[in-house]
Amino acid sequence: MQAAQGIPPAMTARILVVEDEAAIREMLRFALAREGFDVEEAGDAAQARECIARRPPDLVLLDWMLPGVSGLELVRRLRREESTRRLPVIMLTARTGEEHKVAGLELGADDYLTKPFSPRELVARIRAVLRRARPEAAETGPLEADGLVLDPLGHRVTCGGRPLRLGPTEYRLLRFFMSHPERVFSRAQLLDSVWGENVFIEERTVDVHIRRLRKALSASGHDRYVQTVRGAGYRFSTQV
Ligand code: CA
Repeated sequence: MQAAQGIPPAMTARILVVEDEAAIREMLRFALAREGFDVEEAGDAAQARECIARRPPDLVLLDWMLPGVSGLELVRRLRREESTRRLPVIMLTARTGEEHKVAGLELGADDYLTKPFSPRELVARIRAVLRRARPEAAETGPLEADGLVLDPLGHRVTCGGRPLRLGPTEYRLLRFFMSHPERVFSRAQLLDSVWGENVFIEERTVDVHIRRLRKALSASGHDRYVQTVRGAGYRFSTQV
């Protein structure tokens, strides 16, 4: 399949940037958002842990030098806990000594970048770590339903070979539906599974994103597979 030129793929991995210097955080957000990543920010280790508990990101970009708990110590703690043991982490640091690099990697950082680095290098490293870190996506392979193909590894959705542009939430919603076809989910179940537990959002938000997803799928007629089940919720079914 050849991607059409000029249409970016739905690359919607969520990156948590942990850095106390607002200017650097802003620069990272800008560079990552431009590449289509969803970016969250934390100014210290405590904020980072809150963000991760609320909804685990796909990758953490973690500055070594933080006030209070250092980046290195945060990695150590993340690796000790079952829920965050395999969370991909790339460390950022101004230190150049090899010994620090070894220390970072031994504690479980997946990669390591020394400041200053180019946005291009950063994005390449992030993509490489994400590819390595998503064996479940690799095992799953692309999800397919009547010409609609969702590739979890590349975060791409195509309809009859043509790339489809989806917002990050619509992508996650569609991915969830296509991994669980023919099953009815209540709005509350969709919120838990797609938005994450402990997220307090009104149930009607689900309806908003269902509408957006249907709109995106309507050009190819796949919107009819996103079905309303009265009094119960929604279902993805190719049986219309
Ligand atoms: Ca810092």
